[in-house]
Amino acid sequence: MKKNIAVIRGDGIGPEIVGQALDVLNKVAELYGHEFSYTDVDMGGVAIDKYGDPLPREMLDKCIASDSVLLGAVGGEKWNGVPGHLRPEKGLLRLRAGMGVYSNNRPAKIWPQLSEASPLKPEIVAKGIDFIIVRELIGGIYFGEHKTEALESGEKQAVDVLVYSESEIERIGRIGFETAMKRNKKLCSVEKSNVLDSSRLWKSVMHRLAEEYPEVELSDMLVDNCAMQIVKNPAQFDVIVTENMFGDILSDEASMITGSIGMIPSSSLGNTSCGLYEPIHGSAPDIAGKDLANPIGTILSAAMMLRYSFDMVAEADAIENAVSKVLDQGYRTADIMPPEAVSFKKVGCKEMGRLIVDNIV
Ligand code: NAD
Repeated sequence: MKKNIAVIRGDGIGPEIVGQALDVLNKVAELYGHEFSYTDVDMGGVAIDKYGDPLPREMLDKCIASDSVLLGAVGGEKWNGVPGHLRPEKGLLRLRAGMGVYSNNRPAKIWPQLSEASPLKPEIVAKGIDFIIVRELIGGIYFGEHKTEALESGEKQAVDVLVYSESEIERIGRIGFETAMKRNKKLCSVEKSNVLDSSRLWKSVMHRLAEEYPEVELSDMLVDNCAMQIVKNPAQFDVIVTENMFGDILSDEASMITGSIGMIPSSSLGNTSCGLYEPIHGSAPDIAGKDLANPIGTILSAAMMLRYSFDMVAEADAIENAVSKVLDQGYRTADIMPPEAVSFKKVGCKEMGRLIVDNIV
């Protein structure tokens, strides 16, 4: 298969980690007979320096024209003083809006080899943690009307409006069901239908959609219960689908229980198969250029791209298995190296990338 991937190396550790992910993609292409071509895209601080704009229109167009986008990270101290509308992160928001990606998908997976890094009790971790939160990204209370007004009494009152239409719920619901179809076919819809009208509409749309996906086992859960269940019994989840604010909070909670920020990939998808794939961490300026960064979150983002945008399931499995093997062999970047552990071998970003490439079969 031929695929063109837009590559945003970005700032800080971005170029180092993306470089390793491209080596991994090249190895997969060679082994499985694919042709991946790469279009370099400048975004973030590097684009501000070159063009005075964190995402010039022609750069966004290159992303939209690609089969999918792989992003490292953007931002850093150097650009903290630029006006708000020119900040590196504005490039990221414009990219998400320009690509129309309304679904953010973040896996919470604990690698058994790193289980001691989880803040949860060992007996809970031992049952396994491997689920995805599908979060609605461009609707709900973050995008409703916000206002603060003075009451006749002189007291101030603030209002944030939470709106969801059936079509907005349906399109994110479909991503939830489709994701479940590619995994263990269990979908948990999270809402607050005991209080909110928007949640009651959410629940009814999810149940309507369920008729189209008879293979998927749909369950409902109130968001307060879900926050408890994620720490009490995370093994019960396969795919969680939820609205913007609930997803924002639950996905941070879920990433914490897995232990390390350097290991976690993400995808953002819209109506087409062209997705945005990036690790959840930032540009880590404190370790940039020192060959210390963990490239695994970016490499696993590339694996998600193969699985969810290109339908290359065996290829994605091959990358994830290679990561698992390298961890089994005791190789660790500094961020996942247990203190005083003599049986582990500390490696840099490049070496970790090379080891993963060598273990792809
Ligand atoms: P950060 O995620 O960059 O770093 C937080 C801590 O985690 C640092 O100690 C860093 O060294 C460490 N870390 C992060 N990724 C790592 C990796 N792959 N391997 C090893 N250690 C890793 O968050 P921050 O320090 O708050 O932000 C730094 C810059 O990144 C800021 O300019 C911020 O705006 C930007 N940022 C960008 C994105 C993005 O591009 N999507 C996301 C978050 C923050």
